[in-house]
Amino acid sequence: MYNPELFSRLSEKKVPVSTIQTSWLAEADVTLNMHRLDQLHPKISGNKWFKLRNHLQHAFDDGYSSILSFGGAWSNHIHALAAAGKNIDFPTVGVIRGERAEVLSSTLQDAESWGMRLHFISRADYRVKHNPEFLQQLLDDLRLSGSDVWIVPEGGSGELGVKGCEYILSAGRVSPETYDQIWLASGTGTTAAGVIRSAPETCVQSVAVLKGASWMKDEIQQYLSEEHKNWSVDTESHCGGYARTTPELLKFIEQFEQETEIPLEPVYTGKMMFSLYKKCVQGKIARGCRLLAIHTGGLQGRRGF
Ligand SMILES: *Cc1c(COP(=O)(O)O)cnc(C)c1O
Repeated sequence: MYNPELFSRLSEKKVPVSTIQTSWLAEADVTLNMHRLDQLHPKISGNKWFKLRNHLQHAFDDGYSSILSFGGAWSNHIHALAAAGKNIDFPTVGVIRGERAEVLSSTLQDAESWGMRLHFISRADYRVKHNPEFLQQLLDDLRLSGSDVWIVPEGGSGELGVKGCEYILSAGRVSPETYDQIWLASGTGTTAAGVIRSAPETCVQSVAVLKGASWMKDEIQQYLSEEHKNWSVDTESHCGGYARTTPELLKFIEQFEQETEIPLEPVYTGKMMFSLYKKCVQGKIARGCRLLAIHTGGLQGRRGF
């Protein structure tokens, strides 16, 4: 059962920051550091740990005996939740979109091997998963009681998720005021909201990885107060939509890896860095600008490509 010492050890882990050197950065005369959340832990990668940490804390502080969440077959969130649960000895349940495949995705194979209980629901049910009646039926089917299992919304969003993401920069001992801009990839905007709160003096640039994400500004805004004005969401760099790619994107990722030896994936971090690259070569970033890019991890999902 839950091991608080392991939880603190993970919470206090220092995240490395890498200096990035490429020809296009030199030409644009900007400096770039990368905050390597992908290096946090061999299994619990990236921003998902931060989105989960306060949910986990809340679950055991309030006496819940397991934690349940939702995701697809390649979900970084499900993967991180299963790994975190195994690491701190807390039981996890993953409710997965679609039927159980004969051969599970590598993501779900990992999750199951780490002790996560997997439960598959149809795509139609998945769409109504946050409906209270559906949830009650789901818990009945799983023979779980609502007072025993803490339910984390899909992707770890919500105020507890945002709160956890306020720790992202301090985990790298990063002083945000030493940067002019902080870049990161966004799916729900939860991570961006936490980072914005923790860096009130620095411009935070979120790159939306899905199409038509004009809603994301409002989503982020609801977690912020008056003082947080210095941020924006780039809704034009999704390369065709969620998990879609273009040949240019894939080529950029390959070149970036060759030049820097830092792996990216095409769903999140690749799109964020590709957008940053394009702004640099188009001269849209002022000379002398000091940039920090957050590598939000997600490399396990590359096995799906
Ligand atoms: C989930 C995820 C994101 C997006 O985080 P949000 O808080 O949903 O915006 C970014 N990068 C990676 C690698 C992720 O797995």
